[in-house]
Amino acid sequence: SKPTIINKETKTGVTFKDVAGLAEAKVEVMELVDFLKNPERYKKLGAKIPKGALLVGPPGTGKTLLAKATAGEASVPFLSISGSDFIEMFVGVGPSRVRDLFAQAKSMQPCIVWIDEIDAVGRARGKGGMAGGNDERENTLNQLLVEMDGFSSSGNIVVMGGTNRADILDPALMRPGRFDRTIEISAPDIKGRAEIFRVHLPKLRLADELEEVARKLSTLTPGFSGAEIANVVNEGALIAARHKKDAVGIDDFHAAMDRVIGGLEKKSKVMT
Ligand code: ATP
Repeated sequence: SKPTIINKETKTGVTFKDVAGLAEAKVEVMELVDFLKNPERYKKLGAKIPKGALLVGPPGTGKTLLAKATAGEASVPFLSISGSDFIEMFVGVGPSRVRDLFAQAKSMQPCIVWIDEIDAVGRARGKGGMAGGNDERENTLNQLLVEMDGFSSSGNIVVMGGTNRADILDPALMRPGRFDRTIEISAPDIKGRAEIFRVHLPKLRLADELEEVARKLSTLTPGFSGAEIANVVNEGALIAARHKKDAVGIDDFHAAMDRVIGGLEKKSKVMT
């Protein structure tokens, strides 16, 4: 099978200030940061610390970024894997990857384990697909549940999962002692988009005042996710550089938006 697909970062270098908006989600995540930093305070009072949190929201809205920021704020390592990477053609690979992930997490604790696209393994058992065709995935999910039940809720390992389809997840995942928390991550409104532009624009040399650019672009980008906004910012810089400009101007961002929207249209055409 493939070499390790578990991504390990001892320091993410990401903190809350890199995550724009999402004020309510940050408050919830701060609780996890506190568990990781001060487990003793909770243990002393006999509190059972949540083992996991699901981040639920549309693609590109900063779920991975927020999980990384949680690790960064708590100064703990970040182990990540995509749910789709568990599933292989060969029987037994999924469960063994789950075991491997948690063995590594235990050796690195305190740490955060991030499972992106958790719906790929976490879909409700016994639903969809061909009869018997989902055994490998179900075994993988069962192994995940076993692992989560296996470590004590001491706050030393916090498992975070990301999905945009919480509705299809197996309810067993959300039982107490597993993913105890569900945190909603919503698509940014105009204020949120301006905040995301304020995070990404300072990387560029701008032709106009940053605040003015952020405000203008936020009104022009309804429906854009954080990932698409980061894309617009970088594309704008690429376009300006290609035209040998000294600074990135509004017209460059306009061209960048057209390009990002073009990409989105192509994507939705393939999907339908
Ligand atoms: P997916 O569901 O597709 O995995 P996601 O919700 O995990 O997406 P991220 O991978 O965290 O999204 O976002 C991709 C990139 O978009 C980030 O690395 C960042 O550059 C930018 N971005 C997204 N949301 C935000 C935000 N709230 N603040 C700042 N940047 C953001």
